[in-house]
Amino acid sequence: MKYIDPHIHMVSRTTDDYQRMAQSGCIAVTEPAFWAGFDRSSAQGFHDYFRQLTEYEPRRAALFGIRHFTWLCINPKEADDPAFARDVVALIPQFLKCDTVLGIGEIGLNKNTKNELIILEEQIRLAEEHNQLILVHTPHLEDKRKGTRLIMDALSASSIDPGRILIDHVEEHTVADVLDRGFWAGMTLYPDTKMTPQRAADVIEMYGSERIWMNSAGDWGCSDPLAVPKARLEMKRRGHSLSLIDRVTLDNPRTFLSQSPKFRLDAEGA
Ligand SMILES: [Zn+2]
Repeated sequence: MKYIDPHIHMVSRTTDDYQRMAQSGCIAVTEPAFWAGFDRSSAQGFHDYFRQLTEYEPRRAALFGIRHFTWLCINPKEADDPAFARDVVALIPQFLKCDTVLGIGEIGLNKNTKNELIILEEQIRLAEEHNQLILVHTPHLEDKRKGTRLIMDALSASSIDPGRILIDHVEEHTVADVLDRGFWAGMTLYPDTKMTPQRAADVIEMYGSERIWMNSAGDWGCSDPLAVPKARLEMKRRGHSLSLIDRVTLDNPRTFLSQSPKFRLDAEGA
């Protein structure tokens, strides 16, 4: 059994987690830049974080035979001060040259504020100018539908093909909109909030397996770095075929991510 976890924040996980993921069949992860649980006080803090994502984590993952790729941005939670956010965004182009950087992410909205939207639009332009893939964070709870629509409208105003954009943290009330507009959809498997493995299996049964993937979004909070293999077991328990299970946890992530020439798996994983 092999799988890809296309959204997980390994900087906040232990080395034991890499080992357990490798033992469960994980062959690759992609790690979007995110809010680290506290607001960083300077752009220099992001510079160090981007170095951690591009230099240190690929080496730590490689110890367990896992390929590590990353996405860079300023996350929406820290993007409400435009001057500060622009200082961070200005750091990104130099890192886009790194051979494990797949694109811009996870950008999006948190509280759906005007400043957040301005910085979202500027980061969409950055992706456009540098021909990068995009990974999108959608807000939680009651603002999710509104936030998802605002984000999709901002993306649709750009020239970027929606097939090169993945909208993450979809739920039952947003997944159809995302797929209908041509984007890819990501389901985040959390122990209590977002999607459980059971709800994710329900969504596959209702909406099919095209342009959709699952991820753990494991981070420093309550989350589970083995959520994807647990969802595979749930689908197996329901009698789904191995080819369908592989499609949503291995083939689809590989198809989307391979749009970046930098996404390469070794011979065993390919
Ligand atoms: Zn995340």
